[in-house]
Amino acid sequence: MVVQLSDSITASAAGQRMMRLAEDLFPICRSITGDGVRETLRRIGRCIPLETHEIPSGTQVFDWVVPPEWNIRDAYVADPRGHRVIDFRENNLHVVNYSIPIRKQMRIDELLPKLHTLSEHPEWIPYRTSYYAEDWGFCLRHRDLEYLSESHYEVCIDSTLAPGKLTWGEYRLPGESQQEFIFSTHVCHPSLANDNLAGIGVACELARILAAMPRRRFTYRFLFVPGTIGTIAWLATHQDVLSSIYGGLVLALLGHDMPLTYKETLNGQQAVDFCLKQSLCDSGLPHEIMQFEPYGYDERQYNSPGIRLPVGCLMRSRYAGYPEYHTSADNLSRLSPLRLEESLHVCLQAVEVLEQNRVYRNRFPYCEPQLGKRNLYQSLGGRADRQEVQQAMLWLLNLSDGQRSLLEITQRAKLPFASMAAAAALLSEKSVIEECVFP
Ligand code: ZN
Repeated sequence: MVVQLSDSITASAAGQRMMRLAEDLFPICRSITGDGVRETLRRIGRCIPLETHEIPSGTQVFDWVVPPEWNIRDAYVADPRGHRVIDFRENNLHVVNYSIPIRKQMRIDELLPKLHTLSEHPEWIPYRTSYYAEDWGFCLRHRDLEYLSESHYEVCIDSTLAPGKLTWGEYRLPGESQQEFIFSTHVCHPSLANDNLAGIGVACELARILAAMPRRRFTYRFLFVPGTIGTIAWLATHQDVLSSIYGGLVLALLGHDMPLTYKETLNGQQAVDFCLKQSLCDSGLPHEIMQFEPYGYDERQYNSPGIRLPVGCLMRSRYAGYPEYHTSADNLSRLSPLRLEESLHVCLQAVEVLEQNRVYRNRFPYCEPQLGKRNLYQSLGGRADRQEVQQAMLWLLNLSDGQRSLLEITQRAKLPFASMAAAAALLSEKSVIEECVFP
C-alpha cells in the first residue's frame, strides 16, 4: 500500500523541533575535524540513532590527505591593559577557522594584515578558514578596526593542530531494496545558522519521519559529513557500495526566506531530478531550477567523473546567494520554522514520489481497453482530482510499455504525481496494467 508520508507529520511541531536543534547546535565551534564536529554529532544522536565513524589524519583519500585534527580553547587580541578587543568567547567566527596556535606581542602594523573585515557590511564578522594552509588570523566587524589605536597588542590563539581523526555521522535505514537513496549534509561550519544548521535540521527530521514509515522500498542513508574532505573520505572508503546508490540529494541553506532552489545532477535527467522537480511543482511553492555547475556543496564530489552518482542539491537561494552568507549575520534570526517545514515537506514529497514510482505494462495494448465495463469511471466518484485521474489513466495506458516509469509519464502528462499514482493503483487493481521489475 501507498504510504502518505505527508499525513504522518504535523508540520508545525517539525518546524519547532528543527529550530530547537539549530539553537542547541549554534554555539558550538565546529570545523572539518575536532571536538566541535564530535559534539554536534553527539547531539544529533539524541534525535536519531547516528553512527559515528572516524579515520586518522594522514589517511590518503583519493587525491586528498585527511588533515591534522584542529581544536581550539580560546583566542583573543588584547590591548596593553589586558582588555580583549577581539574575543573568540564572544563569537567563534572571530578566529580564522583552523588557525595554528600563536601567542605573542605584535606591533599594530604586523597585526593588521592578519585581520579580516567586510567594509561593505561594517557590522558583520566574516567567516574565514585556512584548512589546508598553515596560517592564522582574526575576523572582526569593520567598524571595530578604528578602535585599534594602540601601538602593540597581545595575540593569543590557544589551538591545537595535531594528528587525530576526521569524524562523520551516518544513519542507514534499510528498505526492501538494496538500492540506496542518500541525503547528505555538511556539519563543519561554526556559529552560522542557515549554512549549515538548516540542512542538519531538515536531514534529522526527515530521517526521523522515514524511520517511522511502516514500509520502505528504498534503503535510505543519511550522511552528516564535514564539507568536501568528509564527503571525499566517505566516498573513498565506500567504493564498494557506490554501485547500489540509486540517487541522492545534498541538503543546504534550507531555513531562510528565499525561494526553494533545486540544482540538478550533471545531466539533469535522473530519477532524483524528476522527483524533486515534480515535488516542487506539486508543492505550489515558488521555486527555481538550476543546472549543475562544478561549484557549490558536495554535489561536486558525488557528480565528479570517477564517481558520477546522480546527486542533486536542494537549497533556498543559490550557493552563496544571499548577502549574509558566511558572515555573523547568518545567525538564528535568519531561520524560520515555516521555511524549514516547507523544505522538509518538499523532501518528503520527493521521497513519496520515489517510493511510489513504478514501471507498468499495459496488458491491453491493442486500442484502448474498455474502462466502463471494469467500473473504472465509477470508482473515481468522490475524488476531488477526478478529472486529473481520468486523464492520468489514458496517459498510463498509452505510455506504460514496461520501460517508462510513472514519474516520466507524469512529466509528459503534466499532471500532479498523486493523480497519476491513484490512476496506476486503480488500473493495477483491475489488472489492466501490471507492474514490471523496477528499479
Ligand atoms: Zn558554507
